[in-house]
Amino acid sequence: MDQIPLCVPEVGPEETKLVMDCMANGWLARGGPFVKDFEHVLAEKLDASNVIACSSGTAALHVALQVAGIRPGDEVIVPALTFIAPANAVRYVGATPVFVDVDPLYWQLNPDCVQACIDQRYQLDREHNLLHNKVTGAPLKALLPVHLLGHPCDLDALISIAQRFNLMLIEDAAESLGAEYRERPVGKPYHIACLSFNGNKVITTGAGGALVTDCGNWAADARRLIDQGREPGMSGVYSRLGYNYRMPSLNAAVGCGQLSRLAEHVDKKRAIMYHYDGLLKDIPGLKRQGQALWALSTFWLYTVLIDENEFGMDSRSLARGLSSRGIETRPFWQPMHLSPTHRADQTEECPVAEELWRQGISLPSSVGLTEEQQDAVVEAIRAMGRKG
Ligand SMILES: *Cc1c(COP(=O)(O)O)cnc(C)c1O
Repeated sequence: MDQIPLCVPEVGPEETKLVMDCMANGWLARGGPFVKDFEHVLAEKLDASNVIACSSGTAALHVALQVAGIRPGDEVIVPALTFIAPANAVRYVGATPVFVDVDPLYWQLNPDCVQACIDQRYQLDREHNLLHNKVTGAPLKALLPVHLLGHPCDLDALISIAQRFNLMLIEDAAESLGAEYRERPVGKPYHIACLSFNGNKVITTGAGGALVTDCGNWAADARRLIDQGREPGMSGVYSRLGYNYRMPSLNAAVGCGQLSRLAEHVDKKRAIMYHYDGLLKDIPGLKRQGQALWALSTFWLYTVLIDENEFGMDSRSLARGLSSRGIETRPFWQPMHLSPTHRADQTEECPVAEELWRQGISLPSSVGLTEEQQDAVVEAIRAMGRKG
């Protein structure tokens, strides 16, 4: 029986040609045009002034937090429902992630919950317009929303909160390149946005990421940080503690090929969504992630909620059943406030994230997925659901 994977990369002759070119010229690590080209094309697509390619999306987040001036003891608001990388990055700089609940329709960081958390947890220093933790005095420095599963979060509402309280806005757009928020591309930064090109993302460089910002000073700072703190030019001076977070040329060569297919990949993800929608609509107890009126979602991973009573089986049993039929799925990530890595000092309640975690399951969503494979996935789901 053929396996149907969750989400695998789609590469073609263009990528092969670019990689061969890269190898033939000895540009595996540094050198050659590919990193610059990749950054340039991405900057154009995002209508942004600076793109800094990095070795991973997590590295981009780590550097973004440093560039934004987040320091040990600061607090940063992060959605409770997310892949763990942004919460880890907050901890890398010694800051504390404060997890806030998501909304039940689109599953994104809920601006009303952010406001409620601010009202409850912080007091306002009116003179400097800064928020401080009522108990510990720790300052709230940033919002780190995640554009989850290809759907943008409600940026305008979050920007207005960030403006009101002098907060940095660092967007984790790793899962949502190609999406649009009110006709603006996701990843076009308000302050700083971060992207990932890991193998399962909408386009890939094998491994890789990028930091995007319109601020020249932040961009220069980020360029130093990803290169061991090295000053530009030939001075041999390393002016601050940095990292080895550069994107190798070889990976950028793959990325240049992939970027030319971004729109095609997004169209394919949306076609996958329409086909699943049609097939799944008469199966009781299934509900997918909604798409807001102000959003164009890429449906990076087509994800459904399983109502155990209506469907006749819970999401984990369904995942096991599909797995035994060679169909790879993935449950939602455990909410961050429950995670053994991060739960320590959480005080906010996040009931929506917990319910989504129980019910959520992502279905196969590779760009190369065929309609026949989708039909097979849905037949298997139908066979396991409540019999009529
Ligand atoms: C994939 C992902 C990342 C980080 O990506 P890497 O490139 O694997 O480090 C960060 N945040 C989210 C939400 C992701 O899905």
